[in-house]
Amino acid sequence: MKIHPLRIGRTKVPFGQFHGGLAGADLDEFVTDKDHFIWVPIHAYLLEHPGIGPILVDTGISPEQTEHIEYYRGSIMEHVMDDDEYDLPADQTLTAQLARLGHTPRDISAVIITHFHEDHVGGLNLLAHAPVYLGANEYAAREEKALGLIPLAFPPSIKAITDWRPIQFTGPALGGFDTSADLFDDGSVIALPTPGHSPGSTSVLVDHRYLLTGDAMYTIRHLAVEDLRAIQLGSEDHYVDSIRRIQWLRRAIPDLLILPAHDDTPYGLRLTAGLATGELSDRDARWAKDWERDTFDEAVRLNPARRPRFIPDPDGGPVGTVS
Ligand SMILES: [Zn+2]
Repeated sequence: MKIHPLRIGRTKVPFGQFHGGLAGADLDEFVTDKDHFIWVPIHAYLLEHPGIGPILVDTGISPEQTEHIEYYRGSIMEHVMDDDEYDLPADQTLTAQLARLGHTPRDISAVIITHFHEDHVGGLNLLAHAPVYLGANEYAAREEKALGLIPLAFPPSIKAITDWRPIQFTGPALGGFDTSADLFDDGSVIALPTPGHSPGSTSVLVDHRYLLTGDAMYTIRHLAVEDLRAIQLGSEDHYVDSIRRIQWLRRAIPDLLILPAHDDTPYGLRLTAGLATGELSDRDARWAKDWERDTFDEAVRLNPARRPRFIPDPDGGPVGTVS
């Protein structure tokens, strides 16, 4: 089926949050570090399922969320998030991105969210009519608070949804995964449990070819989990275990292409651009596999030359880029 990346703005994150997990940077450090930011893209995906209709995987951010002070006023979110954390140009709203493909939010038949974080559920209030699938553990933890403060699901962002479909992973083993869930009973959209980033983070395998990881892996480089890790608000053990299972899936499916939600690497940028028509050319697919071979060895260790480095803003500002 066709798979369209939807670019829904960008989010400003501390470099260490994305890449500092093995470098000794801790959570406090990244929360208070206001000098090493990077911008990363936010992607959702539209699947054109021949039987079900258009399916959204994640929903990005909303224009309301970018009006930070008004939207988050009075909640802990006002303080833990930066007031310029989100940037959403008018042509990148969920509505605008769907319109580009000839759809309105009303046309969406089903939604799958990889997890409850704000940059993945921002469009849900436009999708009140649709069933929303998510990992059962994510749904069960919706009212839990990380660090005793930060809600897993911010209630105003999900208030319109009434038809929650918690996914029970009772299907067969697949690659490194002990269980799976065939969401529409045709093998085309298989949910896989990849907890760690959040309690019930879920990845979505489309046509046994594309793995949409949400934030279970921030970028393709994070596949080398022995060499590069994000900082975890949740369980690092689960995070590492999930990525090892993804490595195994990649061995089982040599054509597998991995599409994280925020991949700012040349790999991520080329795949999302290459899928603009809904189908990847053989040339782009070969390029992606060559890029993987240049980046990882057989044991999925990271080529040191491909290690991400923070490049400061030449004008001395707090937002740099990643090599
Ligand atoms: Zn995210």
